[in-house]
Amino acid sequence: MNSASTHAYDHARTTPRALATEAVHAGRDDLARQGLHAPPIDLSTTYPSYDSRGEAARIDAFAGDGAQPEGPPIYGRLGNPTVARFETALARLEGTESAVAFASGMAALSAVLLVRASMGLRHVVAVRPLYGCSDHLLTAGLLGTEVTWVDPAGVADALRPDTGLVLVESPANPTLAELDLRALAHACGSVPLLADNTFATPVLQRPVEQGARLVLHSATKYLGGHGDVMAGVVACDEEFAGRLRQVRFATGGVLHPLAGYLLLRGLSTLPVRVRAASATAAELVRRLAADPRVTRVHYPRIGGAMIAFEVHGDPHEVIAAVRLITPAVSLGSVDTLIQHPASISHRIVEESDRRDAGVSDRLLRMSVGLEDTEDLWADLDHALGERAAGLPREWTKDEGPALSTGRA
Ligand SMILES: *Cc1c(COP(=O)(O)O)cnc(C)c1O
Repeated sequence: MNSASTHAYDHARTTPRALATEAVHAGRDDLARQGLHAPPIDLSTTYPSYDSRGEAARIDAFAGDGAQPEGPPIYGRLGNPTVARFETALARLEGTESAVAFASGMAALSAVLLVRASMGLRHVVAVRPLYGCSDHLLTAGLLGTEVTWVDPAGVADALRPDTGLVLVESPANPTLAELDLRALAHACGSVPLLADNTFATPVLQRPVEQGARLVLHSATKYLGGHGDVMAGVVACDEEFAGRLRQVRFATGGVLHPLAGYLLLRGLSTLPVRVRAASATAAELVRRLAADPRVTRVHYPRIGGAMIAFEVHGDPHEVIAAVRLITPAVSLGSVDTLIQHPASISHRIVEESDRRDAGVSDRLLRMSVGLEDTEDLWADLDHALGERAAGLPREWTKDEGPALSTGRA
């Protein structure tokens, strides 16, 4: 299957295609010519070759610029043809030259930090909230980095000669706060802006078009889409991708080929899934915002399938009462998930930092799936419990729950 392998690395394609078309066809363009329909899963860890001089030259080339070695693969940590199909497809969807896949979203973020730290650029500027573990990785300085937390308006002033990265999420996990990526990219100057696009997906937002240099995904979420694969990916220019591949090779956070296959399959339905779930989410937001048991609803202007809301009552009781909705951390699956960020996804963030970032103890985060809207509402309505005694039956405009689009 060496010809299949080399074709999987072939990025050349000229005719522009719509996102929905790319989602189905990118990374598969060579298949029909080979008489294949489903992409092959190449589980090889190593690749026999009688030409060790040639392999030496290709390894030297990789050590130079990290370009995906031409010709047959060499070893699993240097690249895998099935994973490369997913990388090609995701790069097309995000509108970047390249993408580099990792074993998880955190492995992907770690690789970005290591690329910059290895250049002596250990300082990171970041805007809260971030996903809890991203916050923790930076706050704890586990990779030898130092973080300065700022408001979006404070990015430019926080930059130092050793600043290697500006890290943001928009919409952010878990509050769905939105940032002006274009303004941020401008404030970053020559420092790369990394936008974690896990929540929006390229269906709703392509951060490179707004000036971000790096786009990160926890592919565990919407890209996989079915709650059965862990992965991360960074979409970026080929120069940065080369550095990421070198770090991936040296540190080993590779994506398993079977995961690469599942992700490629997940991408083909990404636009359909995101649009359908977003429509349901928008309707649930409308109902939650009108509900006196709910004090605040967060929903981004760009839409999407993530909702955050604060309740009058005990959020733990809501989690305990859902029956159709799955009470679980994570997001982006075909089924609707609900979780309490202060207890789970953002537990590892220190309480005061968490609260300062707008993650209140009453906040619930819901990832809307593909179930019927009425069934979901029936479950939510039940889980929210009795309409609490003492609450006014009719809310005036000022007393009623606030719908926050949360642009920071
Ligand atoms: C889940 C998540 C991550 C981490 O990804 P893993 O695949 O769990 O390692 C990073 N960023 C965001 C926004 C996430 O939701």
